[in-house]
Amino acid sequence: MPPVSPARRANPPGPTVLFRPECVASMLEARGTVAGRLTQPDTGAFVPGMAYAIRIHRHGGPDCLVREEVSVSEPGPGEARVRQRAIGVNFIDIYQRTGLYPLALPAVLGQEAAGVVEAVGSGVTEIAVGDRVAYAGLTGGYTDVRTLPAERLVKLPMGIDDEIAAAIMLKGMTAEYLLRRTHRVSPGEAIVFHAAAGGVGQIACQWARALGATVIGTVGSPEKLDVARRHGCDHVLLTDASLPARVRELTGGAGADVVYDSVGRDTFEASLDCLRPRGLLVSFGNASGPVPAFLPLVLTTKGSLFLTRPSLVHYVAARADLVASAEALFAVIRAGHVRIDVGRRFPLAEAARAHAELESRRTTGPTILLP
Ligand code: NDP
Repeated sequence: MPPVSPARRANPPGPTVLFRPECVASMLEARGTVAGRLTQPDTGAFVPGMAYAIRIHRHGGPDCLVREEVSVSEPGPGEARVRQRAIGVNFIDIYQRTGLYPLALPAVLGQEAAGVVEAVGSGVTEIAVGDRVAYAGLTGGYTDVRTLPAERLVKLPMGIDDEIAAAIMLKGMTAEYLLRRTHRVSPGEAIVFHAAAGGVGQIACQWARALGATVIGTVGSPEKLDVARRHGCDHVLLTDASLPARVRELTGGAGADVVYDSVGRDTFEASLDCLRPRGLLVSFGNASGPVPAFLPLVLTTKGSLFLTRPSLVHYVAARADLVASAEALFAVIRAGHVRIDVGRRFPLAEAARAHAELESRRTTGPTILLP
C-alpha cells in the first residue's frame, strides 16, 4: 500500500479527488518523483491509482494552472488506462482556461495525448495492453496517466512517434475534416488559410498543397513569413488591411474559393472580402476573440457567400470517422506530404509557460508537454 499522507486522509480518493494546493508541495516532497511521476520513497515504484495533473479551479490567466495530485480510476467496462508520454497543447485549452468555453470546475485541461495502454477493462476490443495509442477531444489530457473510453483511442502505426502523435491528433484531424469534408479541396482551387505558421496551419497548408490547391497563408508578423512558406504556402501575406486586395491580385481578380479562418473577430470581415462570389468561409476558431453577431444579408451583398462554423467533435463522433480521419492523417505524414515540426516542448509542470507563449503568438507549429 502507498503511504497515506495527511492530505490524503483529509481528501479521500474518488473520481475528482481534491488536494488543497498548500498540501501538494509537502506531498511531493514526501513521495519523490521519477520523470515527474509519483513514486514511493522506499521502493521508487510508481504510486498506483495516482497521477500528476495540471488543473484549474477558476477561469483566468495562465497562473490558474496548478499542478496537483489526482486519483486515476481502474478501467471499467469499455475503458483503458494510458501512461501518457507526450501531450498536445491547443488553443482550445486557452478558451477553456479563460472561460470562453466554460468547464465544470475544477478541471484538468488538455485535449490530446499519446502513450501506452497499461490496463483495459472488460469488453475492450479496439486496443490491448502494450499498444501505443493516441486520442483527441477528451478533456483532461494534462496528466501523466489517465483512464479513458477505449473507443476514442487510435492505435499508432510505425513512423508516428509519441511526440509527433501528441502534436497532430487534434490539429491534424482538424486539417483532415476541413480540407476533405467541410469542403473537398480540389486541384486548381485557391484557398486562404489564416495563422498559417501555427499548429493547425502548418499541417493544413502542406496538406492543401498536396491536394493541388494554391495556398495563400496569412501570418501576424514578418518573422513568421518564412515559416509559413516552408510549410505548404505558395504565397504568404501579413494580416493587415491590404489582405483582400492582395488575395484578389494573387487570384487574377477572382477572389479565393475558400477561406479558412481560425482567428475570428479580427479577420472575419476581411475573410469575407477575400472570397469569390459563392465562395465559402470556414470560420473554425476564435484566437482573437469570437466573431460578433452580424446580419446574414451581408453574405448576399458580398456575393451570395457560404459560411460554416464547424467543430472537430462533429466530424469524428462515430468511431469509423475517427479512425478514418486518423488514418488519412497518418498516411499523408508517412507519404512525406506533411512534415511535422514540433515547435516547442515544455515539461508538463510548465504548462502555464506553454499557454503564455501560445496565446501571445510567440509559437510556431505544434507545442507539446512532456510528463
Ligand atoms: P496556433 O498555433 O495556430 O496559434 C494561434 C495563432 O492564431 C497564433 O499563433 C497567431 O498567429 C494567430 N492569432 C491571430 N490573432 C491572435 C490573437 N489575438 N491572439 C492569439 N493568437 C492570434 O493554435 P492551434 O493550432 O492550437 O489552433 C489554431 C486555431 O484552430 C485556433 O483558433 C483553434 O481554436 C482552432 N481549432 C478549431 C478546431 C475546430 O474543430 N473548430 C479544432 C482545432 C483548432 P499569427 O501571429 O500568425 O497571426
